[in-house]
Amino acid sequence: AKEKGGHQPAVYTAMLDRKSLDRLQLEHALHHAIAHNEFMLLFQPKVSSATGAITGAEALIRWNHTERGIVPPDRFIPVAEETGQIVPIGEWVLEQAFLAMDQLHKLGYPELTIAVNLSPRQLEEPDLIEKLKAMLEKTGFPPEKLELEITEAFLIRDEDQAMQRLTTIKDMGISIAIDDFGTGYSSFGQLHRVLPDRIKIDKSFVSPMSTDAGKAAIVQSMIQMAHSLSLGVVAEGIETEEEMKLLQQMGCEEMQGYLFSRPVPLDDFAKQLTVRNGK
Ligand code: C2E
Ligand code: CA
Ligand code: CA
Ligand code: CA
Repeated sequence: AKEKGGHQPAVYTAMLDRKSLDRLQLEHALHHAIAHNEFMLLFQPKVSSATGAITGAEALIRWNHTERGIVPPDRFIPVAEETGQIVPIGEWVLEQAFLAMDQLHKLGYPELTIAVNLSPRQLEEPDLIEKLKAMLEKTGFPPEKLELEITEAFLIRDEDQAMQRLTTIKDMGISIAIDDFGTGYSSFGQLHRVLPDRIKIDKSFVSPMSTDAGKAAIVQSMIQMAHSLSLGVVAEGIETEEEMKLLQQMGCEEMQGYLFSRPVPLDDFAKQLTVRNGK
C-alpha cells in the first residue's frame, strides 16, 4: 500500500478493511459452526483401475451455514488454518470419518480405506499423535485403513518435529499420501525424507492429458518414479473416459473424479458400493 500519488492508497486501505471485516465475520461464524455442529462430511469414491471396484473414499467437509448456505471448503479452510480453528474442525472430521467407515466395514466392506485431509496446522499440534491414538481407540477403527493426505508444500518446509511426527504416524500403521502431487515446487528427491505410501496426482495434470502430450508425459514419469520407489499412485479429478483409459495404460492403480462420482453423503456412497463392489 505504498504506491505514491492520487487516492490509490486510500482505496487500497478501504479494500483491506472490507476484506479483514469479511474474515472476522467468517472467523466468528466458524466459531458458531463449531459450537453448533454445522458441518457435514461427504465421501468421494476411489476406484481400482484394474477392477472398477471401490477401494475407499476421500472424506470432504462441507459447511452448511444457516444464511450463507453451503460454504465450500476452499472458502473457509484457509481462514480456519490461520485462526487455528482447523484443529477442532479436523478432529471432528477424523472422528466422523472413522464412525462412518466403521459402519461400512460392518456392512461387509472391511477392505475400504478412508482418506482424510490433514492441514499443516494440524501436523504442528503437539498432541496430534495422542489425539489420533485416542480417537482410533475410542472408535475401534483400524489404523491400516486410514490414509492421511498432506500437501507437498508441507513436506518442503521440512521441519524436524513435523517429520518426526509423520514417522510416528507411519509407525502406527497409518498411510500417508502426498496430495496435489506436482503442484508444489519440490523435486522428486525431496520425497526421500519421509517416504509416503502414495502420491496423489493433481487434477491440473490429469485434465490436460488427452490434448497435451507434454502433460501426459509428465504424468507418465510421475507414475514411473512413484513405482520405482514402491509408492502407490492415485489420480484425482478424472472427468472423462479418455483420461481414465490413459491412466490405466500408464499403470495408475486408483482413480477418483466426477467420472465415477462426485463427493456424496454416506448413504449414497453405500448404494454405490452395492453396485460396484456387488455385496
Ligand atoms: P483436495 O484435497 O484436492 O480435494 C479434491 C477436490 O477436488 C474436492 O473439492 C473435490 O470435490 C474436487 N473434485 C474431485 N473430483 C473432481 C473432478 O472430477 N472434477 C472437479 N472439477 N473437481 C473434482 P472440495 O470438496 O471442494 O475440497 C476442496 C479442498 O478443500 C480440498 O482439495 C482440500 O484441500 C480442502 N478440504 C476439503 N475437506 C477438508 C478437510 O476435511 N480438512 C482439510 N484440512 N481440508 C479439506
Ligand atoms: Ca485431498
Ligand atoms: Ca487433492
Ligand atoms: Ca487438487
